Amino acid sequence: MANRSHQRHKNKQKEKQNIVIIGAGYAGLAFGALMAKCGHEITLYEAHTYLGGCASFFKRKNFTFDAGATTLSGFGANRPLAILNEHLGITCPIEKLDRPMVLHLKDGRKILRSADLKEWIQTLEEEFPGHDHQSFWHSLKKREEDLWTILAQGQYFPPRSLSDFFKLLTPELLKRTPLGLWAFTPFMQTIPASMKRDDKLMELINEQLIISTQSHAHQVPALIAAMGLIYPDDMYYHPGGMSAYAYQLGEVIKENGGEVFTRHKVTSVEPKQHGLVVYGMAPAKKTFEKKADIVVSNLTVWDNPKLFRESERKRFKIQKERGAWGAVTAYFACKTQNPIDPLYHQIHFHHSKFGDGSFFFSFSDPKDESRAPQGWQTVTVSTHTRADQWPDPNKDKDAYLSLKREYHEWIEEVFDEHFSENEITEKTKVEVGSPHTFECFTGRHKGLVGGLPHNLKNNILTFPSQETPIENFYQIGDTTFPGQGVVGVVTGALMLAGKLSHTNFLKRN
Ligand SMILES: Cc1cc2nc3c(=O)[nH]c(=O)nc-3n(C[C@H](O)[C@H](O)[C@H](O)COP(=O)(O)OP(=O)(O)OC[C@H]3O[C@@H](n4cnc5c(N)ncnc54)[C@H](O)[C@@H]3O)c2cc1C
Repeated sequence: MANRSHQRHKNKQKEKQNIVIIGAGYAGLAFGALMAKCGHEITLYEAHTYLGGCASFFKRKNFTFDAGATTLSGFGANRPLAILNEHLGITCPIEKLDRPMVLHLKDGRKILRSADLKEWIQTLEEEFPGHDHQSFWHSLKKREEDLWTILAQGQYFPPRSLSDFFKLLTPELLKRTPLGLWAFTPFMQTIPASMKRDDKLMELINEQLIISTQSHAHQVPALIAAMGLIYPDDMYYHPGGMSAYAYQLGEVIKENGGEVFTRHKVTSVEPKQHGLVVYGMAPAKKTFEKKADIVVSNLTVWDNPKLFRESERKRFKIQKERGAWGAVTAYFACKTQNPIDPLYHQIHFHHSKFGDGSFFFSFSDPKDESRAPQGWQTVTVSTHTRADQWPDPNKDKDAYLSLKREYHEWIEEVFDEHFSENEITEKTKVEVGSPHTFECFTGRHKGLVGGLPHNLKNNILTFPSQETPIENFYQIGDTTFPGQGVVGVVTGALMLAGKLSHTNFLKRN
């Protein structure tokens, strides 16, 4: 298998292209690593000091905090991160989580979401009796597996032309025709009536959906809901945290002759007669420019047009925000007598004045001393928020700081209430991040993160495409198809690499 893959990569070297990538989020890194491995000349510019974008990190004394994303999935059989690693010939020192997360319901119940579907169904039968959990969850699992099969159609999905559509009609896909229907059916319509009447069960389903699909059951298509609800079956801990894999991808680019520049912000792109030229600012107010055959931007669909002159900018379709969320985050470390395990806790709350109805607490593995000294664990907390509800700190600093303080106190209160049994003996200062923080550190328009929510309006046919009106300028990342989280943006990177190389990288060798 490795030989065939190697041969394919060698074949690609014949059409060596000079590719500039803007941004070292997971999309840019995955795309860059794969194209470098295929023999292309890769130059990647990242504005920030560290790699990883929304899944990056920062340090405080002896602690290393995940800055945004905290859960890693997609290494299971036939899943995108496993497929990417196979193409790159690398492995990750990841640990599969059998007990990925605990759900703390509003009524005080703590429910373990085990990775094993049989165990999870058994828990649901005990906690929410009277429903046919077996059929419901097995049908979700089947739908989820089918969806990965269609995504493996690679460069033709989603179809953008009649020709793409016909190429999709493989026997494999035709076996799975009902799937097309699920892509446009609200998930709510597929939930059995008895379950819909069970408010507690619907609370659990909706809060799981919001963290994985950014939407609730009445908005999300049934197909995407299946992926979101099955996600905890395939969760991993990466020693070093979320950005460790990003750095591994950065190394692959360099080992294959590419260059990765941090603190290099691209300020504009100009189409030329043959290719494009990228301009930017480097440290110490130095400028840089680089000619490329192809430019791939990891910025959001709202930020990409800003790289061009007015005449080219007008050619881009104006992209609405489509209900995209901002995030509030909090970071601190705690010393415990009794380490917190499982590492992920979703805590539901009654009022949702500020956005959505839950906090997601993520702890570093107590054994992972690269992130916290022995006896300590780092904590990253996140919740969805409406970015436009936040006062602009440049216009009303007091109101902005006061809202941050409100979150700070609330998060501390929730932590003390839910983890007192772990006997916390020390805690570091809590720092809070807002949409403004994400805008500053990642350059994302208004600090909107997590990608575009998949819903009935933002469906597989209307999601922004990777192609742009500018020749040889492509866009990848969580605001383009298939969007959503590290697993989604890596899938998108594999798709674009496939399109440009006329190879389906999403199919295993
Ligand atoms: C709080 C929070 C929690 C999340 N939780 C999870 C989770 O648990 N699991 C999960 O899978 N996903 C999670 N996500 C979503 C996930 O982090 C993102 O969908 C994904 O990381 C986005 O990757 P990306 O490559 O699209 O873009 P980004 O991560 O936004 O990367 C874009 C990069 O481009 C750089 N850049 C911007 N402008 C320029 C410029 N002009 N020049 C050069 N570089 C530039 C930025 O600095 C950044 O590094 C979470 C997100 C947040 C914010």
